[in-house]
Amino acid sequence: MESRQTGTVAREGDGDRKTLVQDALETSLDVRTCDLDFWFREVATRFGALRRGRRDDAVVPPWMLEDGPLRTSIMEEFGFRARTEEAAVRSITHMVRCAPSLAVMDFYATQLVDEARHAFVFRHHLVDLGVEADRVDAEVERISGDKVSAIIEPLARFIQPAIASEDFIGMVVFLAIIAEGALAPAAEMSTLRWAEVDPPAAEIGYGTNLDEIRHLGVGTSLVREHVLRHPHERARLLEMIEAGLGLFARLPLAEALVHRERLFQEGLRQHHDRFHAFEFVKGRPLVDTTVEERLGLQQRWSDEMRTARIIQMGLVEA
Ligand code: FE
Ligand code: FE
Repeated sequence: MESRQTGTVAREGDGDRKTLVQDALETSLDVRTCDLDFWFREVATRFGALRRGRRDDAVVPPWMLEDGPLRTSIMEEFGFRARTEEAAVRSITHMVRCAPSLAVMDFYATQLVDEARHAFVFRHHLVDLGVEADRVDAEVERISGDKVSAIIEPLARFIQPAIASEDFIGMVVFLAIIAEGALAPAAEMSTLRWAEVDPPAAEIGYGTNLDEIRHLGVGTSLVREHVLRHPHERARLLEMIEAGLGLFARLPLAEALVHRERLFQEGLRQHHDRFHAFEFVKGRPLVDTTVEERLGLQQRWSDEMRTARIIQMGLVEA
């Protein structure tokens, strides 16, 4: 477990670097390996040594403090992600309440704190960017209020029946495939995109991705164990996934992602000379990538992760 969790800096020793799209498909994570002892020892201490999710002395580069497309892009991204994390905290309260065993309850209690931490670090990056601390909540609302009603609220309504009927495993499927699962590729892309452009943002995002690897892994193992014991549940859970992904596809999330990528592209164009040497992925300079290329890659990860996860859960045959 320890090696999986090392490193809090996005570009620190690439060999050690964990990626959401690969490491979250690791099958050894479950509520036994990720118990409270593990969480206090490996997770709480690591993040306790940081300040708002990044090293104490991390500095936002001057070009991120100037008004412009890069700054707008990160503010829109982190403002929205702060709200999705908040929604996760609120829905996980029901998972803690309905957990079928104490080990499962403990795990979701830790995930609840993880998600609250994520909302906290995303919000506070806006402070790093120069927003006054007591204005942050209003600023987040200004930036992402419309996306909360268009994207987050329909998802929250979708999961209401499972909450009302205390369908615990339905809530796990929702979180691991439809909500967090579907947002994971964008989170992975974010750390790559910001690594040189806004290093503290990349560091914050990388830390949340390490948590996400654990959340998705444990969620997957819970569904797998459930389906092994109750094979007749397969059809119902698959139906739920289909309905949830159908809803997801109708939400204006893609528009929001395209908008942020376009802003980022415009910023890259303005700062071409500054970032020209930085490789986004091996052999591919970031400044040469396009909006379509980055979103296409993200889409591919999304499809691959979802397929792999549904197979791992035992919902369909490989
Ligand atoms: Fe999160
Ligand atoms: Fe999570």
